[in-house]
Amino acid sequence: MSDTDKPELTNAPQMYVHYCEEEGCEEWGGFGRSATKEEPPRWWCWEHFPHKSYEQETALRRNLEAAERDG
Ligand SMILES: [Zn+2]
Repeated sequence: MSDTDKPELTNAPQMYVHYCEEEGCEEWGGFGRSATKEEPPRWWCWEHFPHKSYEQETALRRNLEAAERDG
């Protein structure tokens, strides 16, 4: 062990800020998808994520309806 083995703290991974790309939506884009490796990924919030499975879509709709009823 020597001081020269210390990891470079200046090389912290870059934080990439990405919000949902749906116009007018200011939610955090936690769900990304890129068509190819070369293409940069696009990001959406869960509600606007266009690649949900049918089951996931149904579950989301049920949650929204329940929230509307209770609210
Ligand atoms: Zn959104």
